[in-house]
Amino acid sequence: MAELYRLPTGPVARCELTELLVSECAHCRGFEEEPVVSSRGQWFTATYSGRCSNCKTSFEPGDRIRADGFMSGGWLAECCGEDEDG
Ligand SMILES: [Zn+2]
Ligand SMILES: [Zn+2]
Repeated sequence: MAELYRLPTGPVARCELTELLVSECAHCRGFEEEPVVSSRGQWFTATYSGRCSNCKTSFEPGDRIRADGFMSGGWLAECCGEDEDG
């Protein structure tokens, strides 16, 4: 069979999306989406009143809040603090 002598090169596979070589394309290699690392803090009970940094809902002492993980150093109340991935 002549197929035995065919060189294993052929057209270089390129990604349809990024046009990079497939071997160099993070998308093709499965890294298209950066893993979302939650930097939110642990839940704790507020000892003071404040506002949810996301939706501005006020919280009161005794409500559960957590650090929002942003440079601004805000707090998320229960309204917005749940992790999206559950
Ligand atoms: Zn790709
Ligand atoms: Zn909120």
